[in-house]
Amino acid sequence: MLTCTYISKGKFALVEKPKPVIQHERDAVVRVTLASICSSDLHIKHGSVPRAVEGVTVGHEMVGIVEETGSAVTHVKPGDRVTVNVETFCGECFFCKRGYVNNCTDKNGGWALGCRIDGGQAEYVRVPFADTGLNKIPDCVTDRQALLVGDVLATGFWAARISEITEEDTVLIIGAGPTGICTLLCVMLKNPKRIIVCEKDVERIRFVKEHYPEVLTVTPDRCLEFVKDNSEHGGADVVLEVAGANTTFSLAWKCARPNGLVTVVALYDSPQILPLPDMYGKNLTFKTGGVDGCDCDETLSLIAEGKINTEPLITHTYPLERIEEAYDIFENRKDGVIKIAVECRAQDNS
Ligand SMILES: [Zn+2]
Ligand SMILES: [Zn+2]
Repeated sequence: MLTCTYISKGKFALVEKPKPVIQHERDAVVRVTLASICSSDLHIKHGSVPRAVEGVTVGHEMVGIVEETGSAVTHVKPGDRVTVNVETFCGECFFCKRGYVNNCTDKNGGWALGCRIDGGQAEYVRVPFADTGLNKIPDCVTDRQALLVGDVLATGFWAARISEITEEDTVLIIGAGPTGICTLLCVMLKNPKRIIVCEKDVERIRFVKEHYPEVLTVTPDRCLEFVKDNSEHGGADVVLEVAGANTTFSLAWKCARPNGLVTVVALYDSPQILPLPDMYGKNLTFKTGGVDGCDCDETLSLIAEGKINTEPLITHTYPLERIEEAYDIFENRKDGVIKIAVECRAQDNS
């Protein structure tokens, strides 16, 4: 079967590999229908994910049809249409039982697919712990509508969930890339009084204005002043930092009001400074980390009810055979790209 494989730093290539097989009783093999390209794939390509294994098939955000299940799998069966979770988790350890699945202590736990084990920019993918890693897609939800459920939408949903947003709040979201927009969609479900999105890219600002006209937008250079002018208590009640640029961490805490909450979703390339003397007396609460992606059934229900729609984010579609063109568009942010869907349908009888 055809796969998009991490060859070495700086190089992905289309490579033929054998179709994966069940290796463990809790595995499933999924025939991938649609995969997407994520900025984490680019981090692998650039060699900034030390755990990524050369030779691995990349891709960790996909939907497909269950082809085969191990003997211990009970929640899904062959023929089920499913989303695949970016995180592999056992569902049984101390952290999993509390919903902190990002910290699953199983040796295969965490971000494995498309990083440490073969992922989903391929015709088939083997998914460990299939009962926790796969979620059935409701009949009324299309593959395209469900494509982002396992990764960027999971991240946005988690970020909004842990941010303790109330209907009185002014919420600032820094960054309107795919994860930032998914965060926006999930913050909107909380009905805060006001949402401000800070983004430097004009195309992305245009996208937010076009699709979510009720949201205020601002560029980073004017953000601090704008947030103070558009909030009641000297800053945003809640700030979600989803950009991960060099200056956005300090922008995030500076824009928060005293006793506000700052949720850091972004993954930075370098350490950030937490200048405690400067922020002394501001009494902020920080929440940080990687997504606990265990709410996919809930997000699929919200999509089915029409309350979340991530389809406009999919700006481009390419077949797997042409994924190198898709990477070029995505990596170089050409043509107003936000997300790219990759059609991976295997040939019949292959
Ligand atoms: Zn990702
Ligand atoms: Zn676990």
